Amino acid sequence: MNEAERQDAVTEVPALLGGTPVRARMLPYGRQHVDESDIQAVTEVLRGDWLTNGPTVARFEEAFAARVGARFAVALSSGTAALHAAAIVAGLGPDDEVILSPLTFLASANCLLYCGAIPVFADIDPATLNLDPERVEAAVTSRTKAILPVHFAGLPCDMDRIRAIAQTRGLRIIEDAAHALGAEWNGRRIGSLGDLTTFSFHPVKHITTGEGGMVTTDDPHLAEKLRRFRNHGIDKQVRDRQATWRQDMVTFGFNYRLTDIQSALGISQLRRLDAGLARREAIARQYQAAFAPMAELLPAPTLAGSRHAWHIYPLRIEPDRLREDRETVFRALRAENVGVSVHYLPVHLHPFYRERFGTDRGLCPAAEEAADRLLTLPLFPQMTDGDVADVVAAVRKVIRWGRR
Ligand SMILES: *Cc1c(COP(=O)(O)O)cnc(C)c1O
Repeated sequence: MNEAERQDAVTEVPALLGGTPVRARMLPYGRQHVDESDIQAVTEVLRGDWLTNGPTVARFEEAFAARVGARFAVALSSGTAALHAAAIVAGLGPDDEVILSPLTFLASANCLLYCGAIPVFADIDPATLNLDPERVEAAVTSRTKAILPVHFAGLPCDMDRIRAIAQTRGLRIIEDAAHALGAEWNGRRIGSLGDLTTFSFHPVKHITTGEGGMVTTDDPHLAEKLRRFRNHGIDKQVRDRQATWRQDMVTFGFNYRLTDIQSALGISQLRRLDAGLARREAIARQYQAAFAPMAELLPAPTLAGSRHAWHIYPLRIEPDRLREDRETVFRALRAENVGVSVHYLPVHLHPFYRERFGTDRGLCPAAEEAADRLLTLPLFPQMTDGDVADVVAAVRKVIRWGRR
């Protein structure tokens, strides 16, 4: 619709109550961008000798490591497999405690359960929606082995303070950077800071391989352990060194390999990462400008000195200024065909975690409060300026209707 129509839409009846929706078609909150060059890259591999276990995986790993400024990158079959592998090579085992924010996707905590380790949820700082270093400090015990910061939405955690805590206490850092490919903390790229940093190539993430993941590290020993873990625990160097048929399994492992087909897609996607990041940033800036003046809304947090990767746009409502609750605002935006989502139900409030660990509301009040107010707005590089304007118009329309 044009600008005049958009203005009219604002004064109209919400689609939830039978009014005309701002958009005719649903706009998803995230979507992959696959173009002809991607298709051609995948086709070439399909016509070649190696569908898996071939040279394209190594090429993807090299390109990825170079992009994030790490010495090594090891590709895995998903971001979750990457987290599992990172947890294993970090040496996590039964009853080891790992401190993390509950405002994350389940996989950040599930990977700890895979090794018998115990997730210890520490609260967030509502100003950033990231792990609060004070809370991390307070959560450390004699059994703590690692800290697992998640760069929520793509905004880097305070890595100076987290690294300082890890150093004085002798803890490992595993960064879940599934949201943060392209992000920078004080001029340093995410992926080059921690002991181990994990990424995801799920279709809603910055680049996709369908399913896929990566771990980056500067430590050659950890890199070698990661390569074994993703390939049944087999030491390939034995075969390569001795030119034998033997494939010695030297440690515990899985089949967590990424294929050459997927790696070809990854290499091709990586070439467009910077363009995608720039577009995400431009869209986020439009949202910030539109929502900052509205008292009923809290725009997404940003930090001076760090580069936000804008995986998602987290908007918070101010419940005291609204007659309608978050669920109704959510449903009203969906009715306008704006595909809002919520990231996340805090991990400790999922039924499984409640039962297994006896966790409940009150454990991390800031994360719970934020989660109750959050809405994820559509944000992906292929959104047009018209799409962005539709989202802004729909939010304004719904908030004007729903406010006190
Ligand atoms: C997407 C995501 C994962 C898991 O990645 P998959 O590739 O889907 O397994 C882990 N952590 C966070 C924070 C994510 O957003």
